[in-house]
Formats: sequence, structure tokens, C-alpha cells
Amino acid sequence: VKKNGKASHQIFSPELHHLVQQQNEFEQQLENALKGEEFFLTYQPVVCLKDRQVRGFEVLLRWQNEQLGLVSPERFIPLAEQKHLIQPIGRWVIKEALHRLAGIRQSLDDNSLYLNINLSPIQLHDDQLLKWLPDIIRETGISPSSVRFELTESALDADETVISSHLVALRKLGFRLYIDDFGTGYSSLKRLVEFPVDGVKIDRSFVHHMETDRNKQAMIEVIINMARLLNLHVVAEGVETEAQRLLLQEEGCRYAQGYLFARPLPEQDLRSLAGIPSEQ
Ligand code: C2E
Ligand code: CA
Ligand code: CA
Ligand code: CA
Repeated sequence: VKKNGKASHQIFSPELHHLVQQQNEFEQQLENALKGEEFFLTYQPVVCLKDRQVRGFEVLLRWQNEQLGLVSPERFIPLAEQKHLIQPIGRWVIKEALHRLAGIRQSLDDNSLYLNINLSPIQLHDDQLLKWLPDIIRETGISPSSVRFELTESALDADETVISSHLVALRKLGFRLYIDDFGTGYSSLKRLVEFPVDGVKIDRSFVHHMETDRNKQAMIEVIINMARLLNLHVVAEGVETEAQRLLLQEEGCRYAQGYLFARPLPEQDLRSLAGIPSEQ
């Protein structure tokens, strides 16, 4: 194709060529990551605000690559989605997490601990996932009611009938559903009424600096009151200070996660969470 000289010169500049090469290499590295067993899971406690007791964990994926080091999911999940690698990676996350849950429950001596697992929109659309989940449930012996899938609001943007039917199917299997990053998308309220969910997670952008920002406090108050009217659970994300914990508790929020309580931890560090006397 004949383009004007300047544009084509820019397209094939050495810098751009280098960038493209780097990107291709990154994709290749991501493609090999599953085979190379470069992924591992971390677990961030979800605690009860009142007594700080751990009730469950959000499963957060980590990628450790020899050349790249530890790569953030913010960087590799979007690429995995784009390259359709998220289906095998996502299945690995679910399988690994469910296999680990029995051991985690044992080391914390609590059989009611649950897992929150992030589902990408692409996974939600995948019919294969729905067929595969019952197998993994049988294989691990974990009750689906111990698993809460977290879906971002944008995951619920696309074709409503397909999404609705898949959400209903997940629920029929016994899984619990939460809307992640709640309040950040368009027509959050509409979705709450339309889709069968068990709870919402207040996005950490509302919690951040809520001590000094009345608007954020108001937003959180609205979400919590609405959730109460609709009989939904609420989990606040990104709680970093004692002041935030107290404010959330005063508003009637019962569960939270955040650095105030614990960072996402590798499985071997979870044991230390057992039997910690609760501060009041
Ligand atoms: P997310 O689902 O909103 O997860 C919460 C993020 O907030 C995590 O980042 C967590 O480490 C971080 N965080 C937790 N507490 C605090 C806090 O007190 N302060 C601050 N500033 N941050 C906190 P992470 O682990 O880097 O994950 C980033 C995103 O990557 C996640 O956001 C999620 O969207 C995605 N992700 C992670 N694991 C998976 C996975 O297995 N599957 C899919 N589809 N997405 C995943
Ligand atoms: Ca999440
Ligand atoms: Ca979130
Ligand atoms: Ca997020």
C-alpha cells in the first residue's frame, strides 16, 4: 500500500520496530508462562470489620518470569484477554485455588473460609467454562457455595441475554456472584436490578481519602444503604487506615479487605493469620 513518505517512515522507525519486537517477545513469554509454571496465587484476606476475623480470601494472580521479574496483573491480564490466553489461565486459577482451599482451611483451622475469584468478561462468555466447572467441583470436592466469582461492571456491559443466562447458570451450579469495582461503571444501579448477584465490592477509589472527602463518604453511604434494601452483601476494598475502618463500620459495612489488615499473601504465609487475637 502506498502511503505518504513521512507516515511510512514513522511506521518503520527503529524505535517503533524495537517496541513491536518487545511486545511480541512479551506475548511469547506470556504464552509460555503456563507451561513454564510461572504463575502463582496470592490470597488477600477478607475480614469482618467488627472483629477483624478472616472470613475468606480474594485470589490474586501473580506472574514471575525469569527475564521480566514479577509482572503485575494490571499489565498481563489485558494482554491475556486480547490474545485469548485468559481462558486457559483463568481455568488454571480456578483449579489451583480450589485445590488449595482444603489445605488453607486446615492451616487456619476454619472450614467456612471462602474464596473470591476474579472472572474476566471473556471467561464469562465462554460456554466451555460452564461445562468444565462441574468437573472441577467433583475433582476438588469443594462446594460451589464457597466460591464467589467477582465480575467487573464492564463485564456486564455486553449482550444482556447471554450474560444473564450465564450468570443464572453459574448460580444454578451454586456459585456466588459479586460485582467488582462497584460504582465505577455506567448504570451500576440498573445492573443490580437486572442481574442475579449476591453482593458488591465497593471500589477502592471511593475508600481512598474518604476520611477527608465528604462526596466519597456520601457515595459509600448510598451504596451500603441500597445494598441493604436489596439484600446484598457489601465488601469494601482498599482499606488502608484505621479511620477508614471506623467510618465504614459506622456506615454499616460489615466486610473489607485492604493493607490495613493484610496484603495479598502467598499460601505459606497464611498460616500466620490463624489464631491472631482480634483487636477491638
Ligand atoms: P481487583 O480485582 O480490583 O483487585 C484488587 C487489587 O487491589 C489487587 O491488585 C490488590 O493487591 C490491590 N489492593 C488490595 N488492598 C489494597 C489496599 O489496601 N491499597 C491498595 N492501594 N491496593 C490494594 P493486584 O493484585 O495488582 O490485581 C490487579 C487487578 O488484576 C485486579 O483488580 C483484577 O482486576 C486483576 N486480577 C488479578 N488476579 C486476577 C485473576 O486471577 N483473574 C482475572 N481475570 N483478573 C485478575
Ligand atoms: Ca477483584
Ligand atoms: Ca476490585
Ligand atoms: Ca480494580
